[in-house]
Amino acid sequence: MAKRDYYEVLGVSRSANDEEIKKAYRKMALKYHPDRNQGDKAAEEKFKEVSEAYEALSDREKREAYDRFGHAAFSGAGRGAPGGGFHDPMDIFQQFFGGAGGFSFGDLFAGGGERGQSGNDLRYDLRISFKEACFGVEKEISVRRHEACAECGGSGAAAGSSASRCSQCGGRGQVGMSRGFFMVSQTCPRCRGSGQVIERPCRACSGSGLQEKPARIKIRVPGGVENGMRLRSSDNGEHGPRGGPPGDLYVVLHVEEHDLFKRDGEDIHCEIPVTFAMASLGGEMDVPTLDGATRVKVPAGTQSGAMFRLRGRGAKALDGTGFGDLHVRVHVEVPRRLNAEQRRKLEEFAKACGEDAYPQRRAFLDRLKRMF
Ligand SMILES: [Zn+2]
Ligand SMILES: [Zn+2]
Repeated sequence: MAKRDYYEVLGVSRSANDEEIKKAYRKMALKYHPDRNQGDKAAEEKFKEVSEAYEALSDREKREAYDRFGHAAFSGAGRGAPGGGFHDPMDIFQQFFGGAGGFSFGDLFAGGGERGQSGNDLRYDLRISFKEACFGVEKEISVRRHEACAECGGSGAAAGSSASRCSQCGGRGQVGMSRGFFMVSQTCPRCRGSGQVIERPCRACSGSGLQEKPARIKIRVPGGVENGMRLRSSDNGEHGPRGGPPGDLYVVLHVEEHDLFKRDGEDIHCEIPVTFAMASLGGEMDVPTLDGATRVKVPAGTQSGAMFRLRGRGAKALDGTGFGDLHVRVHVEVPRRLNAEQRRKLEEFAKACGEDAYPQRRAFLDRLKRMF
């Protein structure tokens, strides 16, 4: 495989100065560091590549050689190659970021140092109707969350003053402590990890840079959601202290039950009792759907448990592939209490029917006879 150009690897121009090269390396080394990309081989390769490119371009002598001879400058074939191969990418990284020990990589990602911490995530429980869950809905919700203080603009420092670099940790937010043979890093006790110290705190927010404020947020609930699902509204959580990025808002959905319908993914089920006479004679029944009732023909001789399917009258599919169906199951209701007249007429009916009216029952009795 052809080796990529070092300038290209770092994404800088051939005339880039030391500062630009450092910045590019810093960004990429953090992005591809193995601690952050566990088990990702591609990221590991990138990390090595970036480290090598940085090592070559940050050293004056090596850079000159590379500009003249390209990769051949380091393969031993080029004349005037500056001696030796490349260092371990981890060593390069340590040198660049930590230097004199007492500094661990995890802290770098924990948001210490000069970067502001990110804000907390928020949770909101949202109740929606059965129909809203099926078709989707837009809701405006109110939450209380921490936002940048209006008085100090989020800096936490009183008007006319500003935060200064912490003298104890030099702005890193971490201090090295020796524990026997080891150097371990600890959150700086003076600035509590922020790297900055506020001498005169803002009165409105007591120096936190944050104030609790009500916020109204529009939430778009897509059609097809189900009870217990969680929607994420990016960056709508609490704001971070001192300009740190905001957290996310998680909306947990609580879908109300429906008197007539049950959901099964995008399909909806409904059970409708029909009279014995209707099932036998046939007719029309009113079937409720999510958007109004519709009439459905019941053929003569419909059995209890028969299913009818209304295509496309279900819920919206969450993946946007259309709508599910409405499944109607009829249930033939047998009258429980008959008055004298009804009883007499039904007995007459039974006599008139004989066995021919019930082919299933006749088949069953035949099988029974053969058994004994
Ligand atoms: Zn303030
Ligand atoms: Zn400090």
